[in-house]
Amino acid sequence: MSPSPRFCCQCGSTELVHRHPPGDSHRRLLCNTCGHVLYDNPRVIAGCLVEHQGRYLLCRRAIEPRRGYWTLPAGFMENGESAEQAALRETWEESGVRARILAPYSIFNAAAVNQV
Ligand SMILES: [Zn+2]
Repeated sequence: MSPSPRFCCQCGSTELVHRHPPGDSHRRLLCNTCGHVLYDNPRVIAGCLVEHQGRYLLCRRAIEPRRGYWTLPAGFMENGESAEQAALRETWEESGVRARILAPYSIFNAAAVNQV
């Protein structure tokens, strides 16, 4: 989960409160000074399931969390990227492999850690 902001990104105020904005279905972090809503939405992770000659590419995590565990090459999307661009970039960064996307595989929801 992402840490809660301490300042309003619009006005710099530290007067932040958790409240239901009118007409909203969720409690949000609101600036008590200017009324700006600081949304905290799930983070999107993109990656590839890379197959080559009947074998599948896995990466061994070098950092926490789960250092030493095997995983698919994947990581957080950047602003301005498509899901496909993020998947290919992360695969390159994590494994050094230039992949080619044939088709979307699946979407996994990890609601417990606010990730898709
Ligand atoms: Zn504000």
